[in-house]
Parts: sequence; structure tokens; C-alpha cells
Amino acid sequence: MSEPVAWSPEGTPRSSRFDDIYRSASGGLAQARHVFLGGCGLPQAWAGQRCWRILETGFGLGLNFLAAWRAWKDDAQRPGLLHFVSAEAFPVAAADLVRSAQAHPELQELAADLAAQWWGLVPGVHRLSFDSGRVLLTLCIGDARAMLSEQAFAADAVFLDGFDPARNPQMWELPLFKAVARLCRRGTAIATWTVAGQVRRDLQQCGFEVDRVPGLSPKRECLAGRFAPAWASRGDPVATPLTPGRAIVIGAGLAGSAAAASLAQRSWQVQVLDAAAQPATGASGLPAGLLAPHTSSDDSLLSRLSRAGVRMTLQQATRHLRAGTDWDFTGVLERRAPDARAPADLGDEGRAWQEPRADGVWHSAGGWIKPAALVQAWLSTPGVQFRGSVRIERMQRTGIHWQALDVRGQLVAEADLVVVAAALGSGTLLPDLALMPVRGQVSWATRDDTTSMPSGPVNGNGHFLPSVPLAEGPAWLTGSTYGRGDTSLEPRDADQLANLDRLRTLAPEVAAALAPAFVDRAVQAWCGVRCASSDRRPLVGELAPGLWVSTAMGSRGLTFAWLAAELLAARLHGEPLPLPMRLASALDVARQRAAG
Ligand code: SAM
Repeated sequence: MSEPVAWSPEGTPRSSRFDDIYRSASGGLAQARHVFLGGCGLPQAWAGQRCWRILETGFGLGLNFLAAWRAWKDDAQRPGLLHFVSAEAFPVAAADLVRSAQAHPELQELAADLAAQWWGLVPGVHRLSFDSGRVLLTLCIGDARAMLSEQAFAADAVFLDGFDPARNPQMWELPLFKAVARLCRRGTAIATWTVAGQVRRDLQQCGFEVDRVPGLSPKRECLAGRFAPAWASRGDPVATPLTPGRAIVIGAGLAGSAAAASLAQRSWQVQVLDAAAQPATGASGLPAGLLAPHTSSDDSLLSRLSRAGVRMTLQQATRHLRAGTDWDFTGVLERRAPDARAPADLGDEGRAWQEPRADGVWHSAGGWIKPAALVQAWLSTPGVQFRGSVRIERMQRTGIHWQALDVRGQLVAEADLVVVAAALGSGTLLPDLALMPVRGQVSWATRDDTTSMPSGPVNGNGHFLPSVPLAEGPAWLTGSTYGRGDTSLEPRDADQLANLDRLRTLAPEVAAALAPAFVDRAVQAWCGVRCASSDRRPLVGELAPGLWVSTAMGSRGLTFAWLAAELLAARLHGEPLPLPMRLASALDVARQRAAG
């Protein structure tokens, strides 16, 4: 948090903190419905909309969120997508969310779903996903004002909540209201329970028209209004969003199929084109990959980005894949070199991400995934159509459409939007992108049950997956080599031995037991060429009106594909960002142009 807050729970036991919030939300669900939903004209106001975006200033026990989600579920006219963005400086315990919903049977199931995703809430932005991704909660953990300045979207409704203005002034003052107003469009509804004169005057100064309206007993009045500045507005906080139509995605690997699913979920009709006959034939064809966040002693950009990505991928895997067959949520042990500096301390909440152990760092949020299974799942989203054996050579704009042409200059497809997600092939279509091939070879063999193996995946200098069910039987996998600038898909003996060497540092006993198989060439090899940017972070963003890119996932496609897809969709539609703006900019393709 950038500034100290006047109200602080430090020294406040968990239980009294629960009572504090619970009391201030007294009247519970009925008040939430009357003051916040009713005050913003909901549910009627969202009827028939494609998407509805609610911004709240204090999440507390999540009662307003649960009330909004419940109303959305119960409404036949509900919007296709409900976004709820809330700031919270001091997240409660998961058990408290469930406890506060106990008085309301209609919220209990929702509270349990929320509690299940309520972990690892270190400062920053966390995207939680419910109801098959149609209800998205963006939790901004930190001081409300600082966190709102890291967002970019146009809210449709604002719930101003916080403790009493006298006790918790910074939640009710001009600087926060200015940060809220920056995220409003003309007509955005606003509601709050307090009718304090200073709050009304400050809201008016920021361009809100607010009225005292009847409260729900025992409260006499509450406040409701809308954003209607008397001055000419500088326009929406984001460029006018595109209306969903037809889209082409070029590339059917992790990045392309994720982008396609994300767009289809927002009502686009998406054609995914690939030069290969089948999806996931490039680097996404890896038999199984490891998923775990990156760690660093300074909690670097990459570490923070990777946590956001891992959380989102885990939600996707839980939703789409068969546990034990396509993926497993095993946790991952990270072995660090003896002289490596310890990863940054992420505090109490950080233990759900990384816990120091005698033998390394334990990541509960990790496991293995078969990338091709995720690709298949994303391509099966209604609205997505895969078309193989078409190589796109060039794109051209005609009027308002984009055309994809093959090598003979024949028209293959035409659409309002194109997303290039073709790994190194993206370079042919977009010659200005600086992309680098990185060859990776993985070694694997079916398990021989006489060799004792670690109980779960091990990460570090390379990785080891002890048991993945492949078509050939339960198998172990290890790798990967990292051949910068190398595009060969021929397996190499030297690379097998390099993988064995890496395994010696990760799991010496396993390496000793498996060494004879490597020497006897009884170990299989899988090779792929990944595509990386010069700073090894993905490239996501708009290159020209209607022309977008999502590529350069490097060796972290499992971590970044869904995050990149959701970031792209958010930017395209003026939806809340799944990341703080600073992190979103670190993925923006614009950084390549800025670097010249
Ligand atoms: N909307 C909540 C609900 O529906 O359950 C109730 C919110 S509760 C009354 C107020 C919340 O604001 C508390 O959880 C508190 O931790 C949070 N808060 C207080 N000061 C804050 C600040 N400066 N930034 C972010 N959150 C803050």
C-alpha cells in the first residue's frame, strides 16, 4: 500500500474484525439489496446487456458481491458477463466469508465457491472466476485509491462502501472519489449508505449527481445518483469498445486457442486457422508441462506476472480438464541452488504461494498439465471453429474488414478482428515484431516401478514430472533444454545428456537410477521450438485498429496463455484488467515499439 490508512486492523483479533465488518453491514443482505443494488437500479439496469461492470470500494465480507451474483443468477435478463471489481486493504479469512453468509441460505453455496478461491491474496490484483467464467471478480488488494489508479475500464455501477466516514476517512474523501470518477462513463450509477454532507459535496465536485433516497429501516436514508459531470467529459476512460462480430485467430496453440475461447465467451464468432492439420502441433504439443509460479529475491515483474497467470490457469484446468488424466493439482517443490538467494517474503498470505522448506520452496499452487488437452478444451468453446491445413501468408485491410490470404493471394477468411498468435509464424505476418526461436528438448520414458521417484513435480534448473499418464502408460518427463536461436526439431543425444545433468541437480537419486536408461538410449525425446520476445515476456496488444497479437509465450505458455487472452479481451472491450496497469504494460506489445 502506498499510504498508511487511518483505520487499520493491526492488533485487531480476527474475530473482532469479523464483528466490525459484520456490524457495519448490519441488515446484511436486505441492506445490500436495497442500498447498493436498488440504488444503482439493479437488476433492471443490466437487462439484456452483453456485459455489466460493478466497481466497489471495500470488499469486506463480500456481501455486496454475493448479493449481486445472486441477483445475476436469478435474473432471466442477466448480462452475459458480470464483472465485479473491489478494493480491499485487509482481506478477511476465507472462513469468515462463509460465516457471514450463514444467515442467508441463498448465499451459502456462492460463499463456499468464493471461499474456495480465496487464497494467496497478497497485495496486487487477483482475478477470480465463477459460473463458467461468466462472473469475474477482480480483487484489488491494497489501499483503494492506489489500486483504482491501476485500473482502466468504464464502470456501469459504483458501490461506495467502507466503515463510517469519521472512522475510515480515506474511503470517503475527494482523492478516492476522483479515482472512482476516472473509471466512470457518463451515466454510471452510484450508491452508498451514508448521506454525510461532506461525502455528498465531494461527490458533486467530482461530477456525480446524488440524491438522498429512502433507506431501509432502521436507516432512514441512503444516497443514489449517477455520473453526470457539468463539464465536457474527456470521453470514456477507454476507447470505444468493439462490438463482437467475426474474428480470425491465426495459430491453434495455447495462445491462439485461449484468445479464441476468451473472445467466444464475449459473443464473438471465432475461426481459428492453423497451417498444421491438427491443433497444438507446435510447442503446445509438449506431452505434459509443469505449472508453478516464478520466484525471485526481489519479487520481480516476471514473478508477479507468473502468479497472476498461474491462478488463472488453475481455474481453467479445474473447469475444463479431467484431474489425474489431463492435469493434476499436485503442488510443486522448487529446488534452488545452494548459493541462490531466497525468494522474496510475501508475508502470511504468501504462504499459499510459496513456503520455505528444508529441501526447497513448496508451491501449493502448482502441478502438471497436458497443454494439448487445454487447447482442445478452449477450441470446444461454443462459437469457436478450428480450420487446419491453411497457411496464412499475408493480411490486408479492406474498408472495415481484415482479410487473411494464402500464399497464392487467395482469400481464406475475412473478419472484423484478427488476433495473430502464431508463435514464430507471427513474424512472417507481422515483420516488425522481434521474435526469437528457443528450441526445447524434453526427455521421457514410461515408469519402471522399481525406481523410487519423488511424490510430485520438482522444479528448479529444469523440471522433473515423476508420473503423467500418457498413451504409452504412466511416464516420467524431464527437461528442458533452452536453445536460443535454434529451430531444429531433430532430437539430439547431447540434449538428452544435458537433461540428465540437470536432473542430477534436481533429484540426484532419481538421476542416478535413470542414468543407465539414458546411456542405453532407452529414453524418448520430444522437441519443440518456442517463441520468445527479447525480454522473455509475452507480447499482447493492438497493432492497428482490429489487428491484435498474443504471442511470445516462451516456455511459459501454460502460465501466460489465458492471462494474455483475458488481458486482450479486457483491452478490446473496456473491461476491468486482470492485472494492475503497470503489469499489464509489461506485456503490452507497444513496449517493443517504444524500445525502437
Ligand atoms: N462491501 C462489504 C460487504 O459487502 O461485505 C463491506 C465493506 S466493510 C464495511 C469496509 C471494508 O473497507 C473493510 O473490509 C475494510 O478493510 C476496507 N477498507 C478500509 N479502508 C480501506 C482502504 N483505505 N482501502 C481499501 N479498503 C479499505
